[in-house]
Amino acid sequence: MGTGRLTIDLDAVVANWRALDDRTACKTAAVVKANGYGLGAANVAKALFKAGARKFFVAVAEEAVPLREALGPKPQINVFSGHMKGDTELIRDLNLTPMLNSVDQLTLHFEALPGHPFGIQLDTGMNRLGMEMQEWAAVAELALAQNPTLVMSHLACSDEPDHPMNPHQLENFKKMTDGISAPRSLAATGGILLGPDYHFDLTRPGIGLYGGAPFADANPVVELDFPVVQVREVATGEVVGYGNSWQATRPSKVATVSGGYADGIFRILSDKATLFHGNTPCPLIGRVSMDLLTIDVTDLAQTPDRLTLLGPQQGVDDLAQQAKTIGYEVLTQLGARYNRRTYGK
Ligand SMILES: *Cc1c(COP(=O)(O)O)cnc(C)c1O
Repeated sequence: MGTGRLTIDLDAVVANWRALDDRTACKTAAVVKANGYGLGAANVAKALFKAGARKFFVAVAEEAVPLREALGPKPQINVFSGHMKGDTELIRDLNLTPMLNSVDQLTLHFEALPGHPFGIQLDTGMNRLGMEMQEWAAVAELALAQNPTLVMSHLACSDEPDHPMNPHQLENFKKMTDGISAPRSLAATGGILLGPDYHFDLTRPGIGLYGGAPFADANPVVELDFPVVQVREVATGEVVGYGNSWQATRPSKVATVSGGYADGIFRILSDKATLFHGNTPCPLIGRVSMDLLTIDVTDLAQTPDRLTLLGPQQGVDDLAQQAKTIGYEVLTQLGARYNRRTYGK
């Protein structure tokens, strides 16, 4: 096998969903947008359905196509971007539930698909998606009379528990929804961890299912290792890779492995990341190229067949920190040409 091997542990995803579900007294959905944060939405959703999840969320209607095929007609598939122009057929044919974000979307939905299920997304301060306080005040009565499946909003700073934005958005959400009979939802992964005030009737975790921060107790879900293509001796003073960016200061052994920025190994990790052979760290040296990485394996006792980038030694968030990004981006950029092995139910 010439490509990196990405191992996805569905039992860990299920364990994370259960652990997040156990932290609340309400229902727990599963966010599987962006192909299940890069890990395979259909596989993830099927495993979570078996575990008891009945509500799923995607970003856009198109993402629901493989999901509906995998899940069959029953589970609810909700769409964060709501009912956009051109979505009507998909929403109808796949029985999707759009989270309507504006009066325009509300009008479009009621005209195009009268009687078709929908939810409402409210903006409580993030200024990204959803109706604002005044807009909502104007249409709330009319919308609520059509029995929305959900009224939801999204927190901007829930990964920072002490951020004043959290109680501010909570207060706005309550102002906009107290007293309604429709089910309510405010919390994603971070919001679940903020405590019961934020839980309402349904939570919508994404990253926590996939083993990422801020869910510190998450079970790791992915492992990623790369095959070694060749190993060479490099004399003191010789250079390695594009731009000659690394120079040997001792007689060295350099392994070239099959993986690069085309596989989601960010170029900013050049001369920075660490791969592992068992528990022995092996520094990535020189530049990350499109398909190849060069690794200093001088200190290994034997010549390695494979080197590990994500695993028990180093998780998604460790790597994200080195790349100055977040676990969400590491996961969703994982490449399409990996040999993907999905374990579990
Ligand atoms: C992505 C998203 C979620 C899931 O967020 P996580 O931080 O991954 O748990 C929930 N709700 C909305 C509106 C989202 O966009």
